[in-house]
Amino acid sequence: MEFRYLGNSGLQISEITYGNWLTHGSQVENDVATACVHAALDAGITTFDTADVYANGAAEEVLGTALKGHRRDSLEIFTKVYWPVGPAPLGRNDTGLSRKHMMAAIDGSLRRLGMDYVDLYQAHRYDSFTPLEETMQAFADIVRAGKALYIGVSEWSVEQIRQAHELARQLGISLVSSQPQYSMLWRIIEPEVVPTCRELGLGQIVWSPMAQGVLSGKYLPGQPPPAGSRATDEKGGANFVKRFMTDDVLTRVQQLRPIADELGLTTAQLAIAWVLQNDNVAAALVGASRPEQVAENVKASGVRIPDELMTRIDQVLGDAVTADPALVTKSTPTQRLL
Ligand code: NDP
Repeated sequence: MEFRYLGNSGLQISEITYGNWLTHGSQVENDVATACVHAALDAGITTFDTADVYANGAAEEVLGTALKGHRRDSLEIFTKVYWPVGPAPLGRNDTGLSRKHMMAAIDGSLRRLGMDYVDLYQAHRYDSFTPLEETMQAFADIVRAGKALYIGVSEWSVEQIRQAHELARQLGISLVSSQPQYSMLWRIIEPEVVPTCRELGLGQIVWSPMAQGVLSGKYLPGQPPPAGSRATDEKGGANFVKRFMTDDVLTRVQQLRPIADELGLTTAQLAIAWVLQNDNVAAALVGASRPEQVAENVKASGVRIPDELMTRIDQVLGDAVTADPALVTKSTPTQRLL
């Protein structure tokens, strides 16, 4: 496993980071989830990403339990705050990036993880209803209380990142990362987010580098999805992955196979290696529903894809690639969640 610095910080993270959205506490039974975490550790992954909202808190619990007994200082644990979590009834302030919600949320995450601190605490989305100054002050207090070491954001626009970076600088804390969706098929961060983050010293921790499994090539055009795959997960996964499940995309993905073959890689490994070619990417945030997938995926670490093959990938995917930077803010909620 190779390691990269997270932005301009001194924190090194495994360039393949294991994430547990939709899997732990939901699609995957706890014993399999634990086996995936242990497979990740065995393969040299030290960095794990979760969020309080994943499986309504259960994903943090499963991850924390699976990591129990492992030396805390040799792990990097990332979680996130924004969406409401917990048993009903929820209150008006159980959401967003207000000081009140963030202070309660960090304590909830640490309790479920069974840890004293997280390495990276991330704003899961931008909160248009709370002054950014309030959010950043709350982040600073969480860092000063020793509950988080670094802070990051997820799916923020360049203007939002720039303002937060300046406030963090004034407060003396480190805004080190952006967590956007990025894959061969979804490249909306390339024109604006990546150059801005390079300038400001933030690294990208990119989610769904395999387009939720689609770039593994296991979904075939015109055929039902394989049993047990995300596209068959009616608890939520099927709904999220469906944006990539068109015959056009699935046909083009099949045409990536010869390119992967030339490098001695599987298509899944090619997809992960592809995001890691971008030097602003600190880690590919990869999910897995089985330990064998983890073992396969980690072999993408350290792979260099020649320029000629990068061009052929672009030719194969053609119009199936989404690259419009205006889509960056599309995921910012436009109304309060509670
Ligand atoms: P991926 O694109 O890596 O998809 C992972 C899924 O693909 C697995 O759960 C598995 O699903 C399938 N898969 C994995 N490896 C293979 C393989 N070798 N061959 C075939 N299929 C494979 O990423 P995710 O969408 O899971 O996201 C990764 C992480 O990113 C999350 O866990 C989370 O930490 C983070 N994230 C952050 C978001 C944010 O808003 N900040 C949003 C979404 C994710 P299956 O076997 O069920 O088909």
